[in-house]
Parts: sequence; C-alpha cells; structure tokens
Amino acid sequence: MARGSNTPSVAVIGAGISGILVGIKLRERGITDFTIFEKGDGLGGTWRDNVYPGVACDVPSHLYVYSFEHNPDWTHRFAAGADIRRYYERTADKYGVTPHVRLRSEIAAADWQGNHWRLRTTAGEIYRADILISAVGRLHHPSYPDIPGLDSFAGETVHSARWRSDVATEGRRVGVIGTGSSATQIVATLSRTASRLSLFQRTPQWVLAIPNDRLPRWMRWVHRYVPGAAQRYYHKVAEQLAERTSVLNKGDRTDYDKAAQASLDLIKDPDLKRRMTPDYAPGCKRMVRSPDFHEAIQRPNVELVSTPIERVEADGIVTTDGRLHPLDVLVLATGFKVDAFMRPMTMTGADGVTLDEVWADGPLNYRSVTVPGMPNFFMINGPYSPGGSASIVSIAEIDTGYVMQCIDRIAERGVAIMPKLARSRELLEQVRARASKTVWITGGCKSWYLGPDGVPIVNPATLAELADELRTPDFADYEEVPLATARANAGDARVSIG
Ligand code: NAP
Repeated sequence: MARGSNTPSVAVIGAGISGILVGIKLRERGITDFTIFEKGDGLGGTWRDNVYPGVACDVPSHLYVYSFEHNPDWTHRFAAGADIRRYYERTADKYGVTPHVRLRSEIAAADWQGNHWRLRTTAGEIYRADILISAVGRLHHPSYPDIPGLDSFAGETVHSARWRSDVATEGRRVGVIGTGSSATQIVATLSRTASRLSLFQRTPQWVLAIPNDRLPRWMRWVHRYVPGAAQRYYHKVAEQLAERTSVLNKGDRTDYDKAAQASLDLIKDPDLKRRMTPDYAPGCKRMVRSPDFHEAIQRPNVELVSTPIERVEADGIVTTDGRLHPLDVLVLATGFKVDAFMRPMTMTGADGVTLDEVWADGPLNYRSVTVPGMPNFFMINGPYSPGGSASIVSIAEIDTGYVMQCIDRIAERGVAIMPKLARSRELLEQVRARASKTVWITGGCKSWYLGPDGVPIVNPATLAELADELRTPDFADYEEVPLATARANAGDARVSIG
C-alpha cells in the first residue's frame, strides 16, 4: 500500500454482528477491497451457531441492533434467535456486505510479511491483505465437559451451541447439564414437551424473572412511521440498561440484589428453593434473565438434580449418590472455551513473534483492540472488552469507530501501526486492577469472566467509558512500522472480490 493511496485491502475474520458491521463501515469509507472470511456456512455468528430450542436474546431487542439501522418489526421485547439472525442477514444485504463474505473459509494462519498479512485457509488457499481484523466474538468454541463415560451414552448427545434439527425431544427423557443462560432457555422450552426433564446443576445461578412482552402493533407502527421514534426508543433502552449494568460494579446494589431475591422467591417448594439458592452475590456470574424458567423448573415432569454427576453410562447419568437418571437425550449446555479467542488460528507478527508468545501470560492487548507485535491487526469485541450485560453490538460499534480511524492513519501515512508494548501492559494492568475489585471476583463465584489466573478477562468499564477511551486514537501509544519493500509471493490472491 503506497503512502496516501487510501485504498488498503482488508481481511476480516468472522461474519457475525461485528464482522458485518466492519464491512458496512469499510464500504461507508469507500474501501471495497475487503473480504470477510467466515468458517461457517452462513452469516450471523453466534445467532447462526446457537439454534437450540428457546434461543432468544436477553438484551432488549430494540438495543440489539446497529444504532443506524433500527428494526421496527420486533414482535417481542426479547427477540427470538431466528429473528435476530434474519435482521443481521437483511442488514448485510442492504448495506452491500454479503457479496464480500466468503463462506466455509476458515483462516488457519496469518503471517505478517513486512508489508502485508498473508493468510492461509484450512483448505490451503492463500490470500493477502494490508490490514487484518478479527471479528470472531468471545463465545464460539463450545466447551465439552470432561465427565467419565460421556462417550458411552447410547442416546443422543448434543451441545447447546451445536444443536441439530434432527434431535427429537418430544415425549422423551431429556437431561440438561448446566444452569447458565443457554440451559435456562432450553429447560424452559423443552420441559413443555419432554416426558421428563432432568436439570443437572453444578452451581445454582441467579435467574432474574423478566417478562418477554409481546409488543403492541401501535408501537411497531410508531417506530416505522414516526420520524426519530425508533431512535429515541433505542437511546432510552440503552440508558436503562447502562444504569442497570453500572450498578453491578459501582454504587448501591440493593435494588439489584432485591430483584434477584424476588425472582428466587417465585420458587414455592422450600427444598427446591434451598437447592437453587446461590452462595455468591447476584451479578458475580453473568445474570441469567428468563421469562419462564421459574415456571418450568416447577413443572411436575421437571427435576432439579443437584447431587454431583459421577459418570455417564449408556442409559443415562449416574450421580454420586449412586442413582441412575435414565435419559434418551443429553444436552450439554456447558458454555464456551472463552480464552481461545481467534485460536486455533496461528499468528506471526513483526520480527517473527507469534501470538502465542505475546499471549503466553494471557491476552495482552491495547484497549482491547490492538496487540503489541501484530502490525495493522485489530480486534472487535476482543479480550478485555466490557463484561456484564453490555450489548456486544454497542461494543462493536465503539471498537469499529476506533479501528476506522486507525485505518485512515495507515492509509494516509503509508505505514503499519502497532501498540507500544510497555503502554499496553500499563493500561491492561489498570483494567485488571479495576476488574479485581468487582463483584466478578468479590462476589465469590467462578465464571467464564475469569481467566486462568483468576482475574477477569473482561473490563468493568461502562459503554460510556469505553466510548470515551476509544473516541480518538492516541497515536503516541503506537509505533509506526515502516513497510518493508517485500512483495507478495506470486500466486497469493488479494482479498478483493473484484
Ligand atoms: P455458561 O454461562 O458458561 O454456563 C455453563 C454451565 O455449564 C454452568 O452452569 C456450568 O456450571 C455448567 N458446567 C460446565 N461444565 C460442567 C461440568 N463438567 N459438569 C457440570 N456442569 C458443568 O454457558 P452458557 O449458558 O452457554 O452461556 C454463556 C454466555 O453466553 C452467557 O453468559 C451469555 O453471555 C451468552 N448467552 C447469551 C444468551 C442471551 O440470551 N443473550 C443466551 C445464551 C448465552 P458451573 O457454573 O458450576 O461452572
């Protein structure tokens, strides 16, 4: 890329909410020389992968959109997964991003060549791009439990994030392992039709009972036809959510704790309620929200199994009290391997340094967006992005605004940029120190928020704070890497679709 040429080529990894957004913003800037590499067979990321029964968003639908593309057609306060996926597919089409997506293309390796990134797919295709953007999301590698005998189960086993449409559950005995957001939605739905449902709980969760109201027709009409109405509503919901989430790590939590307790009080049987009562503070694990879980867990065909699992046998699960729970279907709602991020892809940056070396002690980064040693590399919703219940769509918009300014700089000056190592470490230590004082640690629980060293790998910053931090890049925190004159290998394809 020549100085001032203003036409960098860009490779984006992942065609979920963040990847589509990056595509929209690149096109807005007149950059059309880009490809979004997607390992799956469709757009939508987490909403393509998570198609389990009952999958829905627990962030209000009106906020779970790009701020520039409202959707007046949501029928419910919390939209179903399929509706969310359709919104993002439709938006990708409308903004001309879909033709830039290369499906079934998983990037296996990314190597900095001195003036561009060389990408290799798992199929062995080679591409090159001036700039590389990871938009892979934080929750996409399913975590499978290490339970003795799991492979010996004679019925059907399915992970929540890899649901198959041929898994029949109606009139059958279903076991669900896990009590997180995924399990809760699955239990609420399958318990309506399964002959018997056993929920295997290792740790009780705080579950906030929130009704999922059907939205009145007049509201949809107003959002569609009254200028500015959808936008005003978006900002109102955003403010409400910001207030609720900031209470988690600051200020008076009394109302928050009371709401969690009031939901638990919906459980009538004292023994069931006792077993469902967490011994840690609400908000320590990400709060589960559900309109119908409390009703579901009290159905006569549903049993909460709180005795630990000992092993799985051909016929079902055996708990440590020696009891066999016979099952036809076993659902593993056991979450995600969060610390994988964009791996197993390998990365080699400036001077041959690898991502595994840079991340040997955890995912070192600069403001969650860039990584020392990795020139012209950016992450959307990367490690140490805000946690809590902040909408990942809003985080993606803030990150993307920052990245676009960096791309302008790269194009104007004809350089590669990467964050300074010492500054990255300094800022990350500040984030980790703040995170260590939050309910995610002080609340007394373990969750996917915590890294292997027990310190959260999420940032307690509010969205407003993140927006402030990322409003304008401070290029004094970056080093400029002069572009080498090395040429791309003959035969390496540009990422351009043209
Ligand atoms: P999760 O919150 O990590 O929950 C995993 C569950 O599996 C936990 O209850 C865990 O127990 C249990 N588990 C894991 N390994 C186990 C084992 N070996 N034996 C017994 N139990 C085991 O995963 P998730 O429910 O998929 O949710 C992950 C995140 O995805 C959420 O926090 C949220 O950010 C997102 N999500 C969002 C929505 C939405 O509506 N927007 C819906 C679903 C998911 P322990 O607690 O004891 O570890």
